[in-house]
Amino acid sequence: MKVFKFGGTSLGTPERFGKIPGLLSGEEKKIVVLSAISGTTDQLVRINACLAQEDKQGAGTVVNELERFYSKFIYSLFDWTPFYNQARLFVETRILRLRGLLERSFVREVENEILAQGELLSTGLFRCLLLARGEDFLYLYAPDILHKNTEGQPDMEYLRRALSKSITQNPATTLFITQGFICSNSHGKLDTLGRGGSDFTASLIGAALEVDEIQIWTDVDGVHNNDPRWVEETRPIPELSYDEADELAYFGAKVLHPACVFPAKQRNIPIRIKNTLNPEAPGTLVHEGRKGSSIKAVAVKGGITAVRIRSARMLMAYGFLRKVFEIFERYETPIDMISTSEVSVSLTIDDNSSLGQIVQELKELGVVEVDENQTIVCVVGDFMAEKPGMVRIVLNALREIPVRMISYGGSMNNVSLLLHEQDKDKALRALHHHLFLNREIHVN
Ligand code: ADP
Ligand code: ASP
Ligand code: MG
Repeated sequence: MKVFKFGGTSLGTPERFGKIPGLLSGEEKKIVVLSAISGTTDQLVRINACLAQEDKQGAGTVVNELERFYSKFIYSLFDWTPFYNQARLFVETRILRLRGLLERSFVREVENEILAQGELLSTGLFRCLLLARGEDFLYLYAPDILHKNTEGQPDMEYLRRALSKSITQNPATTLFITQGFICSNSHGKLDTLGRGGSDFTASLIGAALEVDEIQIWTDVDGVHNNDPRWVEETRPIPELSYDEADELAYFGAKVLHPACVFPAKQRNIPIRIKNTLNPEAPGTLVHEGRKGSSIKAVAVKGGITAVRIRSARMLMAYGFLRKVFEIFERYETPIDMISTSEVSVSLTIDDNSSLGQIVQELKELGVVEVDENQTIVCVVGDFMAEKPGMVRIVLNALREIPVRMISYGGSMNNVSLLLHEQDKDKALRALHHHLFLNREIHVN
């Protein structure tokens, strides 16, 4: 059994969407997880932003845009009846539901239901497409099988039991389809796994059923050695260890959701990243596999804030760091990088929503400085297998760029550097040329 996840980019045009069933041939059982069609969740987020400001008219305009988009989409996807009519009825019903939600008072429940519409639309249309092709399949409503517990974590045992039941009750069915990203919370209400969370859904399902492989289908030939949105001449990486993939996903390689490697790693299930636009390409295989092939990739995570706390009280004292961390914990704000000296500690966060309160409390411990608009650049690979001096090569590549913070040694898989946002492009290109193209470039 395998899990196939198709991202929004793979579903983004009627041509691409129409090709997905062709990628699912063979007798082996498959669970297919679909994201929303690309751009839809962004539109739904816009609707919520309008509603949060009581701008119902603005929200209505976005719903109209979605209606136009989906009407055109199904017109080219189902250019024949009766399946076109079925798809049209389905889209009309969902848009009507969305309009109905605009009339409700804007509470978390409504916000989540609006966000869920993208995956409900894509899986509903996929269902019509499979019916049109006469395929045998079973449609699973993700919030029925994927529940969060009271701590907000996925209930793996429930997921395993629910999926196993559907599979054993339908022994002849080989194709199961469901939504990524959406689930239900511990009160039984619709909830989500956060932006980009369909990869996580696929990994959770794969782990729950201990499948042979989890395939993440996207619009690039696997995980590249640098972010193709910022750097030219990037290359797909044939193999990554779980730890390397985890670091890359965590530090910004958008191709994988940060949470998606862990469930697969726990069960030792390979993840293969494939390109819907070029299915023949081997893609990237993430597995325990052989290590020791040096520096693999560079990733970048923007929108970072650095906080430095200076205090003479830290000198030779214990308990200081605990007090600092407790403040971040109280405001549920994760810390990415940390670096300490005798009298100060610097750390970074990517969620600024409680920054004001955090700084207020930190001021009781010492002098606080905040730098916004920072970027983490992360170099990932197997540093243990490297010849001595690899960190020097990284720093040498960046010698013309001011580095605010360095983190190395937390794992043997990454060196992370904090830079100002304005130096991001230069840094990425300089690292790429030094590490992968063996060319020197002067960046200033
Ligand atoms: P999907 O819709 O399939 O979930 P995403 O947009 O979430 O796709 O992720 C794929 C995109 O991630 C690629 O189009 C690419 O621009 C971006 N990306 C960022 N870093 C990397 C990387 N290291 N390797 C490959 N793609 C990357
Ligand atoms: N549709 C959701 C998003 O855009 C989830 C996903 O695509 O993985 O964030
Ligand atoms: Mg994605």
